[in-house]
Amino acid sequence: MPSVFVQGRPVESYPQLAPEARRGSVRRITEAGEDVLHKRCRDVTEFGPDLAALIDDMFLTMYIADGAGLAANQVGVDLRLFVYDCPDDDGVRHVGHIVNPVLEAPDATHRRLLDDSEGCLSVPGAVMDVPRPDRAVVRGFDKDGEPLVIEGTGYFARCLAHETDHCEGQVYLDRLSRRERKEALRQVADRREEVFARRSANIEALGRP
Ligand SMILES: [Zn+2]
Repeated sequence: MPSVFVQGRPVESYPQLAPEARRGSVRRITEAGEDVLHKRCRDVTEFGPDLAALIDDMFLTMYIADGAGLAANQVGVDLRLFVYDCPDDDGVRHVGHIVNPVLEAPDATHRRLLDDSEGCLSVPGAVMDVPRPDRAVVRGFDKDGEPLVIEGTGYFARCLAHETDHCEGQVYLDRLSRRERKEALRQVADRREEVFARRSANIEALGRP
């Protein structure tokens, strides 16, 4: 079994950081409560250099924040796309981006929900258990407008579902009970500063603004 899949295809080897990150700039990550995170994003209709540059910025911003996935509205851009660099439960690394993602409804007979911990770069410092299907299939396009299907299991399935939710204007807090949501916000109050300090240190370690 190959250990890295890029854009859904196995590759022989891959750098520690996706090459996109080297071309990108760090952007501010939006936080739950900001409008752009709570409404459905617009479909991407222009596939060109601006979209590619946005993807570069999103990769770098995700790495700086030690994230496994990042949607465009998490850097304040109201468009349907996300990037990811995420392991699954078999130790396989998945790296890529997908534009205008649509999550396929899980097959009812094989649907299995896994309860596992989940965090979000826009809810800095909180980690909560969220039930998610153990398998996810997302259909969309790549940055050049070519159709793309990404499939994942385990933690990567969770990532695909979480990021597609962002494009729909949902954050994972919306999937929690009122009591759990309160607990998540308490964790944010406790750890937010710590998370931001780590991001600043990561930017510094990178040696550029
Ligand atoms: Zn998130």
